[in-house]
This record gives sequence, structure tokens and C-alpha cells, in this order.
Amino acid sequence: MNYFQPQTVGQAVNIAQTFEATFLAGGTDLVLHMQTGKIHPNAIIDLGKISELKEIKETDGYLEIGSMATFAELGQSELVFQKALALWLACQTMGSPQIRNQATLGGNLGNCSPAADGLPPLLALGAEVRLISREGDEVVSLETLLSRTPLLSQGTLIREFRIPLKGLQSGFAKLGRRKALAIARLSVAIAIELEDNRVGKVRVALGAVGKRAYLSEILARELSDQELNEVWIEKGIEGVQRVVREALGARASAPYKREAVSGVFREALGTFIPEGGTKV
Ligand SMILES: Cc1cc2nc3c(=O)[nH]c(=O)nc-3n(C[C@H](O)[C@H](O)[C@H](O)COP(=O)(O)OP(=O)(O)OC[C@H]3O[C@@H](n4cnc5c(N)ncnc54)[C@H](O)[C@@H]3O)c2cc1C
Repeated sequence: MNYFQPQTVGQAVNIAQTFEATFLAGGTDLVLHMQTGKIHPNAIIDLGKISELKEIKETDGYLEIGSMATFAELGQSELVFQKALALWLACQTMGSPQIRNQATLGGNLGNCSPAADGLPPLLALGAEVRLISREGDEVVSLETLLSRTPLLSQGTLIREFRIPLKGLQSGFAKLGRRKALAIARLSVAIAIELEDNRVGKVRVALGAVGKRAYLSEILARELSDQELNEVWIEKGIEGVQRVVREALGARASAPYKREAVSGVFREALGTFIPEGGTKV
């Protein structure tokens, strides 16, 4: 099998097309899939030497995160903590310290498991994704990208994530399978416009409920433009339970997840409701 280690994004994309090669980021999913025979790549392109893919920076009203930023780097970033708390929180509980050191946000999207921890926060925060292929550059909202099948065409590289800095308050919580290697059984990310105790636009994203993480339009409609108080929180809990019930139907995990989501929703809110403000 051919193995390439390009220095630039352009080289990576060219090789990908020419050799029908597969991108390798941290390898925490890809290597497992190769070992179990789930995939048999023609060639591998290791993205580890492309330094521009590792950048985390603020530019022109966006927080830009290169696809090769690891969960550990994101979880230690003051910028991510300040500007995208939901994502920062997700990075604290993702996998184990060893996995967080290897695993990248780009790989999290590339693998796109239903329980991918990075995706609900990015959805709630309204992130866009910059893709590069031989055909050119494309910036697409993550929500739109997640509705595509396949997610990425052959040779398309995830360049970066762009989170618009709109001053949203955000939070994240998940219910893990086991404490040590906590693959989410259910996760909730929420981002809201909040001024004093007035809630503006609300975005709630759910993980491990459908085939892919998704934004709930119903919850956005039902929870936006209201006072933040216990009534609003109860309405959110009732709403999120209903959404989970409808999404899971008769699946075995449905009764458990429907109950659990109320606690997870409350916990996600509790991560950012200002102290001394409205009690959660
Ligand atoms: C023990 C263990 C625990 C885990 N716990 C969690 C958890 O708690 N939460 C969670 O979300 N995940 C978890 N995972 C899954 C995994 O670690 C994540 O999905 C991780 O983010 C994958 O990133 P990676 O850099 O290792 O990707 P890789 O394995 O290198 O790649 C994954 C896929 O994405 C593609 N890809 C990677 N980068 C790009 C790019 N820039 N452009 C285009 N395609 C790309 C690859 O070709 C491949 O198909 C766990 C995995 C293990 C083994």
C-alpha cells in the first residue's frame, strides 16, 4: 500500500485524486477500521505534516479551527473556551486522555459516527466547514453537509471549521457508556442568544439519537424569543423528551434515552447559565 506524507493541502488533494487515497488524521477510527477489515484503502495520505491544518485562530468574526486540531489542543485552548464553550466542554469528556491527544476534529467529522462528540456543539454554534477538492474550494454549513450522502466525495479534504462569533452562550453534556472511554449514548449541545434573562434564537443539537448528529428545528421554534426562567427550562425538557421519543420510535434504547435526556438537557444548560442569574 502506498503511503504519502504531503507538506501542503494542495499536494494532499492532488495525491488523493490520483491514487484514490484515504486521508489519515489521528488514526483512532481509521486504523481500527483497517484492522477489522471494514475498509481497505488503496493508499494512505498522512495529514500530520501539514501545519496549516492545525491552526486555531480568530479571524474576521470567525473562530477558525483547522481539521487536524486534536481534542486535547481544543480542550486546552483559551480561545475555544471563551468563544465556543460547548465545543470546549465536549473536548473534556471525549474518549480518554490518550485518545484526545490523537483524535482530531476533522477525523470526528470524517468518520461521522452517530455519537461523534464534536458535531453537536459545532451544529449548535452554527459552524461552517471549508472543503477542498481538485474541483476547488467550498464553504458549506455543517448542517447542510450532514444531510449529504456520501458525506464527502472521494478526494475531498476537510480544511477547517468556521464558527461565526455571534456572542452565543453555549453548553454541552452527554451521557457516556463508561466513564473511562465515554462514547456518548446521548448528547445535547445548546447555543442561545441571551441578554439579561431574555432568550433570543435557540439552537439545540442532539447526538446519538439519529444516524448523524442533527439540529432540532422544532426545539428552535418552541424555545426561541422568550424569558429565561424555570417555565422555559421545563418547556425545553418536555420538548427534548418529545423529540427524542419521535426520533427513536420503538427502538430498545428509547425509554431509557427519553428519560435520560431531561437530565442531560438540564446539565447542558447548567454549563453556561450565569452564576447568580436565573437558577437552573
Ligand atoms: C477507545 C476509543 C474511544 C473513543 N471515544 C470517543 C468519544 O468519546 N467521542 C467521540 O466522538 N469519538 C470517540 N472515538 C472515535 C474517534 O476517536 C473520533 O471519531 C476521532 O475524532 C477520529 O479522529 P481521527 O483524527 O483519529 O480520525 P482518523 O481515524 O484518522 O480518520 C477518521 C475518518 O475521517 C477521515 N478524515 C480524517 N481527517 C480528514 C480530513 N481532514 N479530510 C477528510 N477526511 C478526513 C479519514 O479518512 C477517516 O475516514 C473513540 C475511539 C476510540 C478508539
